[in-house]
Amino acid sequence: MTSRTHSLTPCPNCGCGIQPNSMLCDYCLAILVPSESTTGGLVAEGIACRSCGEQNDLGTDRCAHCSASLSHTCPGCGKEDIHVSSKQCPQCHVPRSRFFERCIEVERSRTATLAAAKKRSRLALLVPLAFSLGFVLLGVHQYHSGFAPVGNAFFILALLFIGLWIWASRS
Ligand SMILES: [Zn+2]
Ligand SMILES: [Zn+2]
Ligand SMILES: [Zn+2]
Repeated sequence: MTSRTHSLTPCPNCGCGIQPNSMLCDYCLAILVPSESTTGGLVAEGIACRSCGEQNDLGTDRCAHCSASLSHTCPGCGKEDIHVSSKQCPQCHVPRSRFFERCIEVERSRTATLAAAKKRSRLALLVPLAFSLGFVLLGVHQYHSGFAPVGNAFFILALLFIGLWIWASRS
């Protein structure tokens, strides 16, 4: 799963990774538009303010409308309040040129965790199925031993677990 290539594009404003087709950088809130150049890609048009939502010019450190700090979090350590003018994270010292790499690592570990969780839930689905099969076998055994009512009780339990399995595989 780790060999899967990432789908991120570097943010032209902060250098962090942007999800495909995103029009806003998750990290620095840069407002992104497709580049008019032949090479394609994205260009930042402005920065959205986290507190008031107003658009600001690129390169400004404070919102012109509410004076909130226009900063972003470090993709390496999660430190907040890093300005795009900073060359590196003051906490983990990862240089800005490596922020994109960090975002890819974050993205990859997130997809790996999701895949693992999916696999686990698929395995968990087999548990009620195994239980119902066990109850059916027990029920058949009771029937053969002449305890039909006990056998019926086991069949009902088996049905309950099949119901549980259907319910679980749907949700
Ligand atoms: Zn950004
Ligand atoms: Zn603002
Ligand atoms: Zn950091």
